[in-house]
Amino acid sequence: MSSLFPALSPAPTGAPGARPALRFGERSLTYAELAAAAGATAGRLGGTGRVAIWATPAMETAVAVVAALLAGVAAVPLNPKSGDKELAHILSDSAPSLVLAPPDAVLPPALAALERVDVDVRARGSVPEDRAGEGDPALVVYTSGTTGPPKGAVLPRRALATTLDALADAWGWTGDDVLVQGLPLFHVHGLVLGILGPLRRGGSVRHLGRFTPEGAGRELNDGATMLFGVPTMYHRIAETLPGDPELAKALSGARLLVSGSAALPVHDHERIAAATGRRVIERYGMTETLMNTSVRADGEPRAGTVGVPLPGVELRLVEEDGTPITALDGESVGEIQVRGANLFTEYLNRPDATAAAFTEDGFFRTGDMAVRDPDGYVRIVGRKATDLIKSGGYKIGAGEIENALLEHPAVREAAVTGEPDPDLGERIVAWIVPADPAAPPAPDTLAGHVADRLAPHKRPRVVRYLEALPRNDMGKIMKRALDRG
Ligand code: ATP
Ligand code: MG
Repeated sequence: MSSLFPALSPAPTGAPGARPALRFGERSLTYAELAAAAGATAGRLGGTGRVAIWATPAMETAVAVVAALLAGVAAVPLNPKSGDKELAHILSDSAPSLVLAPPDAVLPPALAALERVDVDVRARGSVPEDRAGEGDPALVVYTSGTTGPPKGAVLPRRALATTLDALADAWGWTGDDVLVQGLPLFHVHGLVLGILGPLRRGGSVRHLGRFTPEGAGRELNDGATMLFGVPTMYHRIAETLPGDPELAKALSGARLLVSGSAALPVHDHERIAAATGRRVIERYGMTETLMNTSVRADGEPRAGTVGVPLPGVELRLVEEDGTPITALDGESVGEIQVRGANLFTEYLNRPDATAAAFTEDGFFRTGDMAVRDPDGYVRIVGRKATDLIKSGGYKIGAGEIENALLEHPAVREAAVTGEPDPDLGERIVAWIVPADPAAPPAPDTLAGHVADRLAPHKRPRVVRYLEALPRNDMGKIMKRALDRG
């Protein structure tokens, strides 16, 4: 297949080598320097099947992944914050031949038996001839573990190229764009979209190491054109904006603000729009499918929707018995199923899970439930497993209720679940993190607040208070931890 990175091929096209490619803090690499460093590391990987990457938010991680892709070797990014048990599971599941790591990284005992190769970002080598086929595995990425133990999704090179080119089309993304992001590099958001995306376009990325609203604002005021983040980051931005005119200026001037990995609360979307005049656009994807839908840069961003299917993605909503929902009525809820060249090929070592994930006609069952608006915009109501509450004969999405609760000034965070109820089947439970722990909003206050916003069957019956919601490394709410109490 044609090279994943035209600007890094042995005879580069497009971007001249002196253009900036990557920046992490004070360290940066031009395309010529990245080609030399990744080429040197690629030269040490020949013949190995799969390599693990100790994926700290550092230059070495980006160089290691590019090196593996140039060498045609599948890369398995590891979350450095994983516990030994999870690492041991991932290592025995993916059986890498070695681990690539930054020279200063201290690796935990779970990796002791694995050969270690240090990544030297100043080494010089040449880019090997690209011999990989489009169906060859490029990455094995473990899912976020929001609903169960992480599963290793095998992503072919075709999927990376397809999804990144579809996003370029939707977002008008070019080699002139400069991305700023502070995402972890062991999931597809930060790694595929946030590192490989700019490199495929011949543009550049500045990684913040650790995300802060101020850091993102500084880069946007200093030439960055796009920001990618998860909803918890946009929440922090929304909280910071009122006292930070520099940040407001930065966001107002950005070409594109993109959110994904979980639903962006409507309240945060509206606050950012009010303070900056800019609307964050949402895209929807998964480890298994890479990106499925997005609001387009030339489309109308609307709070609470993830836009339209990307080019090449076939998307349908189906009822429980498999009947497709054709109505664009903003009401008929169905499971999102997708088909296209953006999909993974299998869950590693899990043929049963792989088979169960696909329909007979080759659509992937996402487990996400959605409606479609009259203009075709997809509106996710939640996950089938944890966000769809069956109460009093209704199917109710948790998201709409969470959005209503978050509009109350005394509510900092909110999550909604269902629990068994003898009369209703399930009753709606609201888990509330108060803005001021000393003055939590009373259940009656919240009941009055939601009464103005939600139909009676959507109003929580029970309110529980917490100091913080259980979240994973992507900032996603772990509802299974909530349900256990
Ligand atoms: P696991 O599969 O291990 O339980 P996970 O599903 O959270 O974890 P990922 O593949 O990282 O792992 O996340 C994909 C999921 O994230 C989607 O299925 C969807 O539920 C959610 N998601 C992603 N983007 C959005 C979005 N813009 N709005 C709402 N939900 C989103
Ligand atoms: Mg999932």
